[in-house]
Amino acid sequence: MSRYLSKTKEYAKEYMRKWRKKTGNKWWQKNKESHRANSNKWRKAHSEYMKEWKRKNKEWVKEKQREYYYAKPNKRLLNQRDRSLRKQGGLLTVETIKRVYKDNIKKYGVLTCIYCLKSIQLRQDSLEHKYPLSKGGTNEYDNLAIAHRSCNCRKNNKTEEEFRNGKDLL
Ligand SMILES: [Zn+2]
Repeated sequence: MSRYLSKTKEYAKEYMRKWRKKTGNKWWQKNKESHRANSNKWRKAHSEYMKEWKRKNKEWVKEKQREYYYAKPNKRLLNQRDRSLRKQGGLLTVETIKRVYKDNIKKYGVLTCIYCLKSIQLRQDSLEHKYPLSKGGTNEYDNLAIAHRSCNCRKNNKTEEEFRNGKDLL
């Protein structure tokens, strides 16, 4: 970079710093949303350019991602927890899921929720862990069942027994 350019850059930085100090970041806060929308729009319009830029600055991008990642410890810990829960439950196989669905239909005639015993409409079904993964349940056939999404949601991380004994069951 030529001397002139780097001087100009420094000057611009200094100017921005002073200006921000003067306005107390108020303008920035106020215009955050529109600024974000604008830069998103720009990025979309220049996606090829962005791709090229990212490829050229791989290390820098990686470093930024790392910084961002460690700046949010909560999110990181939640991800880790989810990953370890999946590990705890053991591998969930397609065969097992198919068997759970097939046996449910065999037992009730139509796909039926094991909690409210009402039939389940299209796309309202969910795979239910009777003993939640978060409490040491597994992905094995015996621990799996079909329930409404809504029923599954209400049950949350209770065990089947806790849920049935509670008052949440309709
Ligand atoms: Zn239900």
